[in-house]
Amino acid sequence: MKGRGMHFTTTLLHGRAVETYPDHAVLPPIAQVTAFGYDSAEQQERVFAHRAPGYAYTRIGNPTVSAFERRIRELEGGSAAVACASGMAAVSLALLNILSAGDEIVAGTGLYGGTFDLFRDLERFGITVRLAPRMDEESVEPLITPRTKAVYGELIGNPRLDIMDIPRLSKLAHDHGIPLIVDATTATPYLVRPLSLGADIVVHSSSKYINGGGNSISGVIVDGGAFPWDFERFEALRPFARYGPLAYQVRLRTDLWENIGACLSPFNAYMNVVGIETLGLRMQRITENADRLAHALAALPGIRVNYPTLPDHPYHGLCQMELGGRGGGILTFRTGSRQRAFDAMKRLKYAVIASNIGDVRTLVLHPASTLYRNRTEEERSLSGVEDDTVRVSVGIEESEDLIADFTQALTS
Ligand SMILES: *Cc1c(COP(=O)(O)O)cnc(C)c1O
Repeated sequence: MKGRGMHFTTTLLHGRAVETYPDHAVLPPIAQVTAFGYDSAEQQERVFAHRAPGYAYTRIGNPTVSAFERRIRELEGGSAAVACASGMAAVSLALLNILSAGDEIVAGTGLYGGTFDLFRDLERFGITVRLAPRMDEESVEPLITPRTKAVYGELIGNPRLDIMDIPRLSKLAHDHGIPLIVDATTATPYLVRPLSLGADIVVHSSSKYINGGGNSISGVIVDGGAFPWDFERFEALRPFARYGPLAYQVRLRTDLWENIGACLSPFNAYMNVVGIETLGLRMQRITENADRLAHALAALPGIRVNYPTLPDHPYHGLCQMELGGRGGGILTFRTGSRQRAFDAMKRLKYAVIASNIGDVRTLVLHPASTLYRNRTEEERSLSGVEDDTVRVSVGIEESEDLIADFTQALTS
């Protein structure tokens, strides 16, 4: 059967969600339209009531966007995927779908800066975010209260690079009757499929590795479809109780996502379908490059490197166990001073100074003065961002060239 027993890179080209389209096209046509026309009002009524398949209006559904969603659903092994206008839209909607005023969530601290900014917005709607200094049972459990609706964290924190122990954290969350929601942007399904380890909902900023070419902003939410929602506790899902474990995805798709309107553009969905075909090749190359670069930089005097495959990294063991010893595409290093960091960034020949990750090109960023400029020093520190920290999103260049370039930039 198609899709069974295939390795990841083969699934990307021959999985069940790989389709042929009209005229035997190997990629989906770009349905760059706002609305879809019908022969009869009766037929349109059935589509609107979700009683017949079909598309009505691109905010509510679009065939090119659906093609992208089917690819992601298969790669993550989920029961539904909902594409969004951006990674932040995906993070927001994944949480808001189960939150009401007065609720709480427990979240990690090694998080993407934009997610921290979102938490501040959520506070204005009466939602309390309790931050765990580390994403382990000892730190998370004491923060869970009867109002807690989810445990949320990044699989590989961007940029702290702490790794979530998904089996243990999902067990802890489930023991308390709440789902584990994982932002797996930096890991991608190439490194691990969080749903298979016990996570309940996965979000991605597909602007990053999934797209891969740095050409489209987008996000996606994947529901495992197995969490046993208690509709007494999860009031937001109560009107959808008849769908049982699928209540989350039905509410998201037919209610919140539709109403908020953060839909993905068909053109960007198409760019993602193109990009995803090379996700395996890119991730293989990127993780190899990152590992080599991390080891080379760690040997330079005065440079402290943070990368999970380095032997002294606090998550080295978990990286071996959960990610097969592959540390992903991001590393950070500390130079000793902000000036030295800025000088090194200027001297790099190949790395582009840009606030993105997951591009085919190597990118560098000074997080403290950019993504974390609104954070206090303490919050920054908790996120793994110091004044002399440089974040590198490693690309697919030849590793020898990258090592030579970073070495000259840091030693001249
Ligand atoms: C970039 C990023 C986001 C936000 O995604 P956008 O597509 O920029 O909105 C969320 N989480 C992580 C881990 C990210 O790296």
